[in-house]
Amino acid sequence: MLTFPGGKTKCLTFSYDDGIFQDMRLVQLFNLHGIKGTFNLNSGKMSRVDVWQNQDVQVRHMEPEHLKELYLGQEVAVHTVHHKHLYALSDEELSAELAQDKIALENLFGYPIYGMAYPFGDCDERIEAAVAKEGLYYGRCVQTTGTFALPENPLAWKGTAHHNDPKLMDYAEQFLSDGDELRLFYIWGHSYEFDVNRNWNVIEDLCAKLGGRDDVWYATNGEVVRWMKQNKLC
Ligand SMILES: [Zn+2]
Repeated sequence: MLTFPGGKTKCLTFSYDDGIFQDMRLVQLFNLHGIKGTFNLNSGKMSRVDVWQNQDVQVRHMEPEHLKELYLGQEVAVHTVHHKHLYALSDEELSAELAQDKIALENLFGYPIYGMAYPFGDCDERIEAAVAKEGLYYGRCVQTTGTFALPENPLAWKGTAHHNDPKLMDYAEQFLSDGDELRLFYIWGHSYEFDVNRNWNVIEDLCAKLGGRDDVWYATNGEVVRWMKQNKLC
């Protein structure tokens, strides 16, 4: 029977976008519970001037200094250079947004960048082909499935749930329940949403429930896709 590494049948992964200051608190929480995730960054927005207001919370991109230390043990991935709507870009612009972000992140973090999340969740076959052409193996969308299925096409990867899904803790219960089938629990969001919605308790409770267990493989998005490729599942 096919299992995840270590003979496990449960895998947990997270995906958080934009490289904003609240990632610091989220990474600390993940590290505390031995949880791994993927953080999707815009290399062209790592500056003090990229600030916006979301209700009463100021949302700021982090500058590149210290990011390597911050995300140590987690994965970083492409979110394009400037976070534009990808449908609107020409083929040349699209490939530059992908390739230049990949190169900038590889230079900053010192390892090969393996995948991405689509800004605004925009993805179609042309965009997927451009992503594959740049040597990226997965792309996360904003749609979710409410299931623990492995992605049929990692270039249009739909997770299980956004962290604000009212059924989040029900999914967590189902995920941990007995069963032999492979389960991938994939949660995505933006860390500033926890400040805007005053609901850090949602992710703190989830991490406390799911973290530090022997029967769960804690993996980055890239580790999941590499395991899928090794097992010829994509
Ligand atoms: Zn984004």
